[in-house]
Amino acid sequence: MRKINEIFYSLQGEGAHAGHPSVFVRFSGCNKRCPFCDTRHEEGTLMTDDDIIRAVKLYQADWVILTGGEPSLWIDSEFVRLLKKATGKKVAIETNGTNPRPPAIDRVTVAPQVGKHTPPTEANNEAKATEAKANHAGEAQAAEAKANHAGEAQAAELKVAHADELKVVDVGQDLEPYFALPCVDETTKMYLQPCYVPDEAQALANRNATVRRVLADPRWTLSVQLHRFLQIP
Ligand code: SF4
Repeated sequence: MRKINEIFYSLQGEGAHAGHPSVFVRFSGCNKRCPFCDTRHEEGTLMTDDDIIRAVKLYQADWVILTGGEPSLWIDSEFVRLLKKATGKKVAIETNGTNPRPPAIDRVTVAPQVGKHTPPTEANNEAKATEAKANHAGEAQAAEAKANHAGEAQAAELKVAHADELKVVDVGQDLEPYFALPCVDETTKMYLQPCYVPDEAQALANRNATVRRVLADPRWTLSVQLHRFLQIP
């Protein structure tokens, strides 16, 4: 049995396949606690592989996207093999990369959590400014070193050998460490995504900041969560 939050049909909103009709299998739960996580994935129902396959086969799309939460907590090689054989569809996974991917998955998008992550909101910007004023230079450097060490530790958590796409939510962090990740090579498409927040003015500021960063470093491509702009589920 595998714990499923929802199975639904929609357009892929992010990355190279944006706009492509796909069946989404959202698994329940995640082993990370990212402060900017905007996915409701905790609720779930235990389903058999037959139940899952039956639900996926209701839709004609040629891609199934395993997402979450963190799908790698729930899947194995046998499940992927069965899903492909029974539905005739290609299988993609969206993962934080902390578990090895089962073989036979056709496309891997890794969204790693590397480095210091603070959602860019007005309140956080003020908090950072206050913190900077309060810190002596030595303390600030020590804090930065600690943050970099945390980033290295998180990078070491990555168990996926190769990412077809790397998706990074822009929270103002140093972007250079992403290019040194072991799952990134010259074929990996690097996507930078504005951090979504409900406040429209802040969301616009975040989008503009991310556009500026992509223009300044063309190794990145902007990913915009198409489904939010189109207001589709
Ligand atoms: S890894 Fe992804 S799903 Fe998990 S908490 Fe972070 S943003 Fe949310």
